[in-house]
Amino acid sequence: MSNKHQLNTKLIHAGEPEKRYGGAVSMPIFQSSTFEFGGQTDYHDLQYIRLNNTPNHIVLHEKLAALEGAEAALVTASGMAAISASLLTFLKSGDHFLAHESLYGGTHDLINKDFPDLGIECDFIDGCDPNGWEEKLRSETKLIYVETITNPLLDVLDLNAVVDFAKKNNLLSLIDNTFASPVNYRPIENGFDLSLHSATKYLNGHTDIVAGAVIGSKELVTQVRHKLNHLGGSLDPNACFLMHRGIKTLGLRMERQNYNSFEVAKFLENHPRVARVNHPGLESSDSHDRANELLDGTSGMVSFEIDGSIEDANLFMSHLNLFINTASLGGVESLVTRPVQTSHSGMAPEERLAAGIQDELIRLSIGIEDAEDLIADLGQALEKI
Ligand SMILES: *Cc1c(COP(=O)(O)O)cnc(C)c1O
Repeated sequence: MSNKHQLNTKLIHAGEPEKRYGGAVSMPIFQSSTFEFGGQTDYHDLQYIRLNNTPNHIVLHEKLAALEGAEAALVTASGMAAISASLLTFLKSGDHFLAHESLYGGTHDLINKDFPDLGIECDFIDGCDPNGWEEKLRSETKLIYVETITNPLLDVLDLNAVVDFAKKNNLLSLIDNTFASPVNYRPIENGFDLSLHSATKYLNGHTDIVAGAVIGSKELVTQVRHKLNHLGGSLDPNACFLMHRGIKTLGLRMERQNYNSFEVAKFLENHPRVARVNHPGLESSDSHDRANELLDGTSGMVSFEIDGSIEDANLFMSHLNLFINTASLGGVESLVTRPVQTSHSGMAPEERLAAGIQDELIRLSIGIEDAEDLIADLGQALEKI
């Protein structure tokens, strides 16, 4: 039934048990580590929380697969568990892959600090410009890895070119779709092999759990599930329950966050104390045309530079009343951070500058409050500098 419906209907109904457990309208939490033996012949089919196959896992798997129009999905203990288990499923010692040059900090560190010890090599490419990808190919190249919208400069990569390049060169294509969420971009429908999420962010949306997801064909997701079963990064049923509850309002939340972030971006762009605003919905963004072509919405993130020093940026942030000063993103409440202090503090200063990330850069994760109130709060804090 689920694939006939549109996204908001799928958010509520897809994957729900056909016969409700005990008649319960809301999916109960099955807080049981193990389940009675049912004659299974394969280790991975024994019902056990670590094997990612309890009733709470299964409902989420079917819902997530339906949301992105895929055959299968897998929830994981964190976004990094989804990313590490997926990459380690398809890359082994001696393999090589290509990845966009500016990635989520944890992923960047995994590739640069852990993979060399495993004999897995990576070359970085500019995901906005297909020129130059081909010359990085080797006979050992197995896959290409990108993100839908980059952090913190909010570039939309040339996603169609990534899919074409992967197909032409027989590479698996993996994409971290956290920033877009299935509301704004559905990678599998657009030709990617695997879509990965930090469900900590928009999918759950309430800043109260850490979780991840892997979405794709049954064949690929099963391979990742078996790897995850061995690595051990499974999601606890209680966190499954919270993610399941949070995800039902993803459509409503994202609609508001798409709207609010664009209103905030326009306000900032017209403010005399603001030097530069990054938001793919703005006509001034290099990603504006690609965002229009590829995405159904531009998500809730905005980053900008004030016309001033680092001290001015800190002063501005200290005067905000509604925005909470912290890293992470995608929840119902608005957050503010300087990426150099938090999400990108692990990068060397030269690397950051090469990537265009100024020390003064401020990043906002826009929540579901009223846009007028968020704008008024930003306005009063800008007056203080
Ligand atoms: C937060 C984040 C991750 C890591 O997710 P965790 O749930 O913290 O492990 C990966 N990719 C992106 C784009 C993120 O924002």
